[in-house]
Amino acid sequence: MGMAIRRLGLLIGLLIFLGMTYLTGCTSTSQTTSSSSSSSYLYYDTHSHLQPSESGGVLSFTGGADVAVASMNAWGVKKILVMPPPFSSSSEQTATRYECTDMSAAVSKYSDRIALLCGGGSLNIMIQNAVSGQSINSANFKTVARQLADTTGFVGFGELAAEHFCLGSGHIYMMAPPDHPLFYALVDVASEKAVPIDLHMEAISSTMSFPTLTSGSCSYNPAVLTPNIDKFKNLLTYAGAKSPKVKIVWVHAGWDNTSQRSTTVCDELLGLYDNLYMNLKHSSADSVSANQVLDSSGNIKSEWLSLFNKYPTRIMMGADHFFAPAGTTPPGPGSFDSSWAIITKLATASSNLAVKIGYENAQTIYSLQ
Ligand SMILES: [Zn+2]
Ligand SMILES: [Zn+2]
Repeated sequence: MGMAIRRLGLLIGLLIFLGMTYLTGCTSTSQTTSSSSSSSYLYYDTHSHLQPSESGGVLSFTGGADVAVASMNAWGVKKILVMPPPFSSSSEQTATRYECTDMSAAVSKYSDRIALLCGGGSLNIMIQNAVSGQSINSANFKTVARQLADTTGFVGFGELAAEHFCLGSGHIYMMAPPDHPLFYALVDVASEKAVPIDLHMEAISSTMSFPTLTSGSCSYNPAVLTPNIDKFKNLLTYAGAKSPKVKIVWVHAGWDNTSQRSTTVCDELLGLYDNLYMNLKHSSADSVSANQVLDSSGNIKSEWLSLFNKYPTRIMMGADHFFAPAGTTPPGPGSFDSSWAIITKLATASSNLAVKIGYENAQTIYSLQ
């Protein structure tokens, strides 16, 4: 009974918020408020980034956090999970490489609005180095992972990369087999700490030539791509056998550069592995349109609505937006407004799904307050 009342309360809160949204016509992050109070907000964005400013070799994330909170207020987002994107030891990334520990001042400033995922700036580099032939001791890798877990107050590991394309300036190409021994080592630590793992992986069912990118070509990308779906299944099988506490979040559903991350593939994997979760991103500038959630009119495609209805507790929001300090240019196209438009549409189709995908699932999966 108590749970039923709570759920009813959450639903009423959502409807009140959506009503306010429609009344104010709020569809852009330019409509902001100065308040950082989160008491009236409901939603969780489980995957975004803060772009640092740099002065004298020191990176600061508070400017990006200020912009993030203003955008969150505009969309009724209570909390975002931010993380270092997947880095490598490439010299291309020397100036901007960081780990979640570098964001502590920004997190302290907005402790009720921002939570951390960690590993993109250290564990992902170790995995990339291992794939390049460097000898990486699994025990040392686990020590770094445990240190992040024990010292940062994080809520999960991220962002790790199994297949990451170069989509423009500042990007590099990264590939690591999802069943690599170090991904298994990460699952071991995630099991100990009972936290999810965020994994970035363009879908490749079989060997294919590198596709023509919506965002334009990049010389770092290879000519041929290696299949990864079967290896991903190995990882999910390993994690499932390890512990039901290890949740693998295959990030950026609805965003796709191989034309292979279809709802059919998502459906197959979600059906086979109950430890698999996804979060939604919408960005027309750097993704093929065929597998996006929204059609050209901004409506949710029927195949995605079917997927949401089939797996209502397995999908969350995760815009993958890079919040840059005011007055600076964010890297890549923005995706916060375009992604959160999904929830506005979803609320008209199913308020129950909007509640689950908008915030309930994130609360459960990442154990958020
Ligand atoms: Zn990513
Ligand atoms: Zn990301």
